Amino acid sequence: MGNIEDYQNGHILKSIGRALQTISNSAQGLDDTPESIRVKQKICEFEPTVLSFEKAIIAVRSARTIAIGERICRPLHQDSEFTESIFLDELAEAMTEAGHARSAGPAEAEQTLKTHSGKHPLVMSKVSGKYLEICASAPESCVFWQAEKNGVRCMKRQQD
Ligand code: SF4
Repeated sequence: MGNIEDYQNGHILKSIGRALQTISNSAQGLDDTPESIRVKQKICEFEPTVLSFEKAIIAVRSARTIAIGERICRPLHQDSEFTESIFLDELAEAMTEAGHARSAGPAEAEQTLKTHSGKHPLVMSKVSGKYLEICASAPESCVFWQAEKNGVRCMKRQQD
């Protein structure tokens, strides 16, 4: 999981769904089976980082292109609260082209982050090796938060 093409063609959803299934199957935490090792490796490749609102704004203002769209994993959790993600640069262009997001300026992106950031921790992830996604995450269904809950320390904190 984790490249721009996967986001554009929707394959990322299958990867997230499979990872969540592996996590929920491992009552004792992710173990050393080949599937668990594969999932841990894939999750850590995103280098997810919990961001403050202020740091997220800096990232948005530094971007060449911005797009806003429903957070990627929400179709897997239709009953969960609606939140949006900010996509940056090449990912913003790809998501807009695919019709998964709309182009936006920094002011709209900042407003979106402001709307969601209180209840939803902001998580920035690497896609195709660059930090291009800022998600107003839903911890109860987020693959990163659920991995952490199951013993995989995959998320960086700002102070890390
Ligand atoms: S909630 Fe977590 S898994 Fe879902 S899109 Fe956001 S960062 Fe990714």
